[in-house]
Amino acid sequence: MSINEILYNIQDLSVEFHTRVGILGAVDHASLDIRRGEVLGLVGESGCGKSTLGKALMRMIEEPGKITSGKLLFDNIDILALDDSRMRELRGSRISMVFQDPMTSLNPVQRVVDHITEAIQVHQSYVTDKEARARAANLVDRLGISHDRLDDYPHHLSGGMRQRVMIGLALALRADLVIADEATTSLDVIVEAQFLDLLRELRNEFDLTILLITHNMGIVAELADRVAVMYAGRLVELAEVNQLFSNPKHPYTEGLLRAVPNIQLDEGELYKMAGSPPDLVRPPSGCRFHPRCPKVMEICSQVDPIFKSIAPNRMVNCWLYQEVPDEKLWVGGSTQ
Ligand code: SF4
Repeated sequence: MSINEILYNIQDLSVEFHTRVGILGAVDHASLDIRRGEVLGLVGESGCGKSTLGKALMRMIEEPGKITSGKLLFDNIDILALDDSRMRELRGSRISMVFQDPMTSLNPVQRVVDHITEAIQVHQSYVTDKEARARAANLVDRLGISHDRLDDYPHHLSGGMRQRVMIGLALALRADLVIADEATTSLDVIVEAQFLDLLRELRNEFDLTILLITHNMGIVAELADRVAVMYAGRLVELAEVNQLFSNPKHPYTEGLLRAVPNIQLDEGELYKMAGSPPDLVRPPSGCRFHPRCPKVMEICSQVDPIFKSIAPNRMVNCWLYQEVPDEKLWVGGSTQ
């Protein structure tokens, strides 16, 4: 298997929400590939559209939201063209999502064993109840939960155990892609570290592809192969993890990294990015980061930069890395 093989090809994806105050563009023309076998981190501040993008990949955008443009090709399957029943099947079997609060995904009146055996038998109906239970016992042991807990209900388990059960469901289904959306946010640091270790092991053992959606740059540094950075509904940078941390290109990425606490610095030196993310009903013109950008230029507020490749495995959406057209062509609002 080549890690360069594309599992999920996202082309020009836009998601809008119709609100009382206007149309909110949560994801704006995002294009991205997720490679088979990789952990792709998707980072950005709260409200930048990263969770909406993750839900769109599973076609889980609910009213008043809508996918308004784009093409989603998962393993060459046109996700937006599938009928609802095929989509449900695919969502259950090949793409799984682990949320911040697994209680919202686990059925409170079903025991752990029921969740897992059902997942196994839905897709492998020939597996007997006894065999499915044995497999479930094996799986939870593998996840660090004693099989004695198989008959527990979700509310009997700790938050960390519930996260493990969610991952177990993805494994039982043999999902190709796991979308982990702020999956560790509700865990304490020790349980979070154990959960990350588990993800790392499982990823190697089962060739899992993981989209890791988080605002926590530390988690990304530990687990991701590549990182996509979102700001105000747009992808602004994509790079291999080492490149991104050692040499961030987009001024927003630089700010995000400078804002990560560093134990070698005094607390007082912690950087705080100026301003706050924009209202996505009325986003700023041109580059959406321009009101906060320490490197802003005249063109930035007038014309959108393009999300383009600047080196192998490296994309940036910023005028600092693309040729600025002649002023005559853009003064007044847009390129002609
Ligand atoms: Fe800053 Fe301009 Fe680059 Fe936007 S396009 S990030 S405002 S330099």
